[in-house]
Amino acid sequence: MKFARVIIGMNSPEIDRVFDYRIPERYEGIALQGVRVIVPFGRKNTKTEGYILSLSEDSEVLPEKLKDITEVLDGGKPIFTPTMLKLAEWMKEKYFCTMNQCLQAIMPTGIRTKSIWYVSINKANELQGYNQAERIVLDTLQEMGAEVELKELEKVLGQGAKNVLQELQRKNMIHLKQRLLRSDYKKEKRYYSIDSASPLLENTRKKAQQDKRLLGQQKIIELLMEKGECTLEEIKSYGISDSPIKTLLCKGILLERREEGKREVFSLENYEKTQPFHPTTEQAKALEAIEAQLLEPKKRPILLHGITGSGKTEIYMQSIAKTLALGKQAVVLVPEISLTPQIMERFISRFGKVVSITHSRLSAGERLDQWKKARDGEISVMIGPRSALFMPFSNLGMVIVDEVHENSYISDITPKYDAREVAKQLAKETGSVFIMGSATPDIVTYHRAVKGEYLLLELKERTGGGCLPKMHIVDMCRELEDGNRSPFSRVLQEEMGKNLKKGQQTMLFLNRRGYATFVSCRSCGHVMRCPECNISYTYHGKEGDLICHYCGKTEKTPKVCPVCNSKYIRYFGAGTQKIEEEAKRLFPEARILRMDLDTTLKKDSHSKILQSFRDGEADILVGTQMIAKGHDFPNVTLVGVVAADSSLNTGNFYAPENTFQLITQAGGRAGRADDTGRVYIQTYQPKHYCITNAAKQDYEGFYKEEILLREMMGYPPFGIFFSIVISGQNEKETMDGAESLGRILEAENELGNFFIMGPVPATLSKFRGEFRQRVLIQGTNEAELILFARKGVENCKKINKKEIRFNLTLNPMNIV
Ligand code: ADP
Ligand code: ZN
Ligand code: ZN
Repeated sequence: MKFARVIIGMNSPEIDRVFDYRIPERYEGIALQGVRVIVPFGRKNTKTEGYILSLSEDSEVLPEKLKDITEVLDGGKPIFTPTMLKLAEWMKEKYFCTMNQCLQAIMPTGIRTKSIWYVSINKANELQGYNQAERIVLDTLQEMGAEVELKELEKVLGQGAKNVLQELQRKNMIHLKQRLLRSDYKKEKRYYSIDSASPLLENTRKKAQQDKRLLGQQKIIELLMEKGECTLEEIKSYGISDSPIKTLLCKGILLERREEGKREVFSLENYEKTQPFHPTTEQAKALEAIEAQLLEPKKRPILLHGITGSGKTEIYMQSIAKTLALGKQAVVLVPEISLTPQIMERFISRFGKVVSITHSRLSAGERLDQWKKARDGEISVMIGPRSALFMPFSNLGMVIVDEVHENSYISDITPKYDAREVAKQLAKETGSVFIMGSATPDIVTYHRAVKGEYLLLELKERTGGGCLPKMHIVDMCRELEDGNRSPFSRVLQEEMGKNLKKGQQTMLFLNRRGYATFVSCRSCGHVMRCPECNISYTYHGKEGDLICHYCGKTEKTPKVCPVCNSKYIRYFGAGTQKIEEEAKRLFPEARILRMDLDTTLKKDSHSKILQSFRDGEADILVGTQMIAKGHDFPNVTLVGVVAADSSLNTGNFYAPENTFQLITQAGGRAGRADDTGRVYIQTYQPKHYCITNAAKQDYEGFYKEEILLREMMGYPPFGIFFSIVISGQNEKETMDGAESLGRILEAENELGNFFIMGPVPATLSKFRGEFRQRVLIQGTNEAELILFARKGVENCKKINKKEIRFNLTLNPMNIV
């Protein structure tokens, strides 16, 4: 092949296409598909990292315009398998971003070549004929040193310096030099041995034996003569320093051998091998169905719906064992927060060294080495959040997504891909079995399973024994009526007191999601909602206005409740801090820990707080939903869901679904072997179907109610949302852009196939100095909806040449 089609490693949408490069002779046979290269790019032939998408015998580019590939990286070992390249193409379409952004998401982190520009004064040129501005630049440059990083210089000189620098370069008074910075995180092992053929050996040995100052040399020679080859670490373990090693190397007495090693992320010695459990009847049925899918040429995605402790993880492990027996590999996605030492231990103990783990707490080098192990066929199972998907396995056979309802699977940096969707696509492309597991699947997924698009496997019993906790609903309207204004109901206070006396632990949840507050009546529980969208209004403190973040309808906050005329209608919101204070006031002797965004800003503070609670260093843990997930606290017997309403009224149609999940998870924390576990759900809406079903742990009951409502409102799975966020530095331009997008969409919507809402200020209406507006489109046909939205944005871009950006999301989780 003579030509390579290369994606340039830069993010600008204008260059989001392949560029042809000639493959010079020396790179023939190693400049292959998926390989990383350095190419000259642009008018100035800046050296840039690129990725070969494909090869070709010919090119349509004029021969005189074609450039050569400068360098092939990674020794010609592809950084992308053909599967990953296909996946990137798919992600690009799905998440409205550039190919390079997708490749960056897939590529191991930290290895991308960095480019740094340096400026220096051209000493060969007489410095004359410069103006005032140029003189300042030259003086500054001289002061800062011989060679100055361009970025640093621009920082010192400010924005205006760019043009001056360009002019100086044109006049040949300064040089600009590019350096490429590469981190390959190679971990080399060094081995040393004696070269017995060395003519200096005998002499040196004798000298070293006689001269005390040469003790180091003597030790090395004796050691290596006895043991043969040793690693550097071994030699050093005898108290030998670097200097005698160096001397002997120089003399040619020592031979050095370097070998690339891979970092280990765990040590097998710390784990004891476990055997598979004999499956229960339910498990056996599920396993049989999964095994059948493994052999099926046309596979169906599987939803494994089972309550916590029903043995899902055991099923994953036994299914993986079957996959490995077929000579295939498996990937297991676990939300970052649930990837606890306990879960890692289960997989490592079962599978030993064929399993590895990747997650964000590992160093870039450690992560890269796990990636290499997958590439080199040294491991067959990878566990991790999102990035575990992108392992270069050669023959993937199973993709598992645990806790599939978790929205943390959505990446928060561009491309904002949903790892669950990518996992499904990866399974489809590789012909792998795809398993989604959850105790509380999201409504859309469950609906697909009920309709037969997915294979539904259900586990209804707890294998490990243990009872579900007793769930109680507490009517907070009654508390107020009876004069209790504390955020804790009387019964919860009483139970907390009992737990303290018994030395058992309590968890208090405040499932508050972010910023949105709502307005509700404390007497009758009525929540102010948009009549059009059936979504709770969001309260905007400053103006006292209520706004629907779907359609933009606004209302003034009423002075009295429109239902019961009570004056106790106001915005809702107590923070974790307030809950902590109140608990302290009620129980001054209790040791209380708090976990929320404020207390977990520092690295590792999250796991430290949880560990100290597990170790019994506190009686009460107060926190947001982050304490609900995935952790096991054997001494917790009481859980208080302090304000279920705060997640029930987030101004998002996912609110009931999320609340059901949170209460179920919270309940899971109090599930114990004996029957002492109890949960109190405090709410102003005790009759809400979400609360009543959650209290009964009745997922199906909840699903039946929720799906009716979704159908009525045309919400997913019956309708599809598309969100366009318009953002810019200038408030008016952003508003105008959003308005014009709204008008364009309305005009194009002749047939009325779509429902266009907004523009409305986005929930984060101002973020990082940018103003943000949002238009929401609702439709029923996904392909048509995407086309419609994209066309609208394109047309809007044409008439708005201003500095505004459009961020497109299909099926946004965060509608508000
Ligand atoms: P889940 O993933 O659904 O929460 P797990 O797989 O963690 O459930 O199982 C819960 C507990 O039951 C674990 O301690 C597990 O080791 C144990 N377990 C799972 N399957 C069996 C079985 N067939 N027999 C006995 N114990 C089992
Ligand atoms: Zn009321
Ligand atoms: Zn509305």
